[in-house]
Amino acid sequence: MITFRNVSKQYKNGTIGLKNIDLSIKQGEFVVIVGLSGAGKSTLLRSINRMHEITEGEIIIGDKSITAAKGEELRHMRRGIGMIFQSFNLVKRSSVIRNVLSGRVGYHSTLRTILGLFPKKDMELAMHALDRVNIREKAYVRADQLSGGQQQRVSIARALAQEPKMILADEPVASLDPLTTQQVMDDLQRINQELGITMIVNLHYVDLARQYATRIIGLRAGEVVFDGPVAEATDEKFAEIYGRPVQEDELLRVSSL
Ligand code: ADP
Repeated sequence: MITFRNVSKQYKNGTIGLKNIDLSIKQGEFVVIVGLSGAGKSTLLRSINRMHEITEGEIIIGDKSITAAKGEELRHMRRGIGMIFQSFNLVKRSSVIRNVLSGRVGYHSTLRTILGLFPKKDMELAMHALDRVNIREKAYVRADQLSGGQQQRVSIARALAQEPKMILADEPVASLDPLTTQQVMDDLQRINQELGITMIVNLHYVDLARQYATRIIGLRAGEVVFDGPVAEATDEKFAEIYGRPVQEDELLRVSSL
């Protein structure tokens, strides 16, 4: 479903973000990308929806190259890709439902969305998305009145309102406490299993990667240094990915909660 063909990314200042990435991710996989800070996780994720432009190679989604896509075609492809961020990226002073409805903008004209005119079907979709993450009752609350975990759920609902085929999550739990972390990861897992939406999630914590992923991809200095099922992602493999033994603060002891 997503294919990276010899993808490299060099930032303008010369830093190598990604180096010769060849990958294929199937519909419905739950992929966790791990690696040290600066390994290229964020660059990899953001190259999929072209928040970052790659400098070599090609990324194919379905049977179309997003690398070559322009204008309406690019907009259309981006609609199928939901995104979740560490810092939630909500419009804080807007209501939850408005934030979720903003997931529909890719389907309508700019004028219509500026005027806030969304069809009834969109409202139903947005409410349904809030149901999926169990916060329908917060629909008319201002986003900044919610806890971090609830805000992240709103951003998941916004991604769902896009009716995406895949969701990219860039360190989605890095700002959350361990209990909330587990709830948000459970939401992502449920959405993956029930709706078949492909998940590609950057995570820092080794235990979480093992708990939720069906496949782990390890990056080091912009290169794939591990790609396999969770069963093969042993402590030794993690040590190779990290270039040193895994440290205590990289383990999140969710099991002891
Ligand atoms: P990670 O998500 O694994 O922490 P990143 O993808 O953010 O890694 O970064 C990969 C490499 O690219 C790092 O060396 C980082 O410093 C560099 N980098 C990231 N963004 C930029 C940028 N806008 N300009 C220059 N270098 C960047």
